[in-house]
Amino acid sequence: MELRGPIALHPLPLRDTQGKRSTRGRGGRIRCPKCEYEPSEHERWQCSCLHLWNTFLTGGRCPACGLQWEDTACPRCHRWSRHVDWYDFGEGPEA
Ligand SMILES: [Zn+2]
Ligand SMILES: [Zn+2]
Repeated sequence: MELRGPIALHPLPLRDTQGKRSTRGRGGRIRCPKCEYEPSEHERWQCSCLHLWNTFLTGGRCPACGLQWEDTACPRCHRWSRHVDWYDFGEGPEA
């Protein structure tokens, strides 16, 4: 079996962001390239070392063991995409 990236888990029960549910990146948004799902800042992924964190806060790098994940699974459609493909800079000024 091949480990391609952090495992997407269901969000922790911390949903208190009614107004802002999308995680903002630098000059763009973050969404699943496959289904357009925008993960919230409370979404969690699990590394192979079992650490839980929001992979988009660290650019796909596990803060516990330092492993750099190049692919990220979507919490909604469960499909894998390149981590960089999640960032949509289309509406940014520096395109
Ligand atoms: Zn790790
Ligand atoms: Zn998706």
